[in-house]
Amino acid sequence: MEIEVIAEKAIRGQRLSKEEGLFLYENAPLTLLMETANQIRYHKHPDKIVTWQIDRNINITNVCMVQCSFCNFCTVSGKGDAYITDIDEYSKKIEELIEAGGDQVLLQGGLNPDLGLVYYCALFRRLKILYPDIKLHALGPPEIVFLAKKENMTPEGVLDMLLSHGMDSLPGAGAEILCDRVRNILSPAKCNADDWLNVMQIAHRKGVLTSATMMFGHIETPAERIEHLDRIRQLQDKVNGNGPGFLAFIPWPVQLEETRLNKKFSLTAATETSYLRMIAISRIMLDNISNIQASWLTAGVEIARICLHAGANDMGSIMMEEKVVSAAGANHKLNAEEMQKVITDAGFMPKRRNQAYEILG
Ligand code: SF4
Repeated sequence: MEIEVIAEKAIRGQRLSKEEGLFLYENAPLTLLMETANQIRYHKHPDKIVTWQIDRNINITNVCMVQCSFCNFCTVSGKGDAYITDIDEYSKKIEELIEAGGDQVLLQGGLNPDLGLVYYCALFRRLKILYPDIKLHALGPPEIVFLAKKENMTPEGVLDMLLSHGMDSLPGAGAEILCDRVRNILSPAKCNADDWLNVMQIAHRKGVLTSATMMFGHIETPAERIEHLDRIRQLQDKVNGNGPGFLAFIPWPVQLEETRLNKKFSLTAATETSYLRMIAISRIMLDNISNIQASWLTAGVEIARICLHAGANDMGSIMMEEKVVSAAGANHKLNAEEMQKVITDAGFMPKRRNQAYEILG
């Protein structure tokens, strides 16, 4: 195989096999990888627009029975720091969000064994009654699988209930690496790769807006990273024009600070170069996903800016009050003005969007 031949094939819009993708990822110089991804980005998005969003994280609870080895956010029921957010707190935070011009809350948290489907349905219904214009981007496939087991229901039944009570879209949380060797080490109590993909397939059939993520830079091999991209790509193929499928792909480097994962494996944090390579190969391999998002929150603002020249066309959200990855060391901050300046300084036009990737205003 030759690096340039494979890169040319991708630029012509031909799909790369897993083997070609891995060869390119492991062997191409960074500049070639970025340039290839950048050209593909301009085929898909000829305008120099970079999208961004205002939303707010609200963590439903920090109690979690999964206890992922990379998570410093979770605790166990009954411990002094355990909480379940009450409705007054939601109201206070949503009103601040509205004041800041935002229109969506990202509702996530732990898999709390004390909270069942009735709790989530009642919460979503209450929030929709109080704030009908606020979109609820809520939970993720691990929560759907967890609730299905807890309630002895199918994942589809759980999704239907949540959607009918006000959930608007399903984040791609908990994907980590879609390979069970890795998942069994990182989070053995979390749903497996097939379960994650199955929930997303159900959501796609229903036309629910979804995204896909990847947490990399820990114990996975390069081949497992490419396998992850391929599994996402295969699922997106099944959408085949029927619904939005995955609107975006968001790879982000694991945050290791003081995590049990790091204590066990003494890992080296993903470098800036490795993040750029990951963004670029994501754009190159995921020929059927329109938007690639640079995660400024985990990778840092400066690197996110460079990602805009390596295939990324979206900067995600200003993420008011993120707590999960910041608990593991990601302490980057960005307000709306700074976000637009970062995009402008990189040579692009900032355009605010909603969760459907429609430009606002
Ligand atoms: S990452 Fe999420 S699922 Fe894993 S332990 Fe933390 S809160 Fe629970």
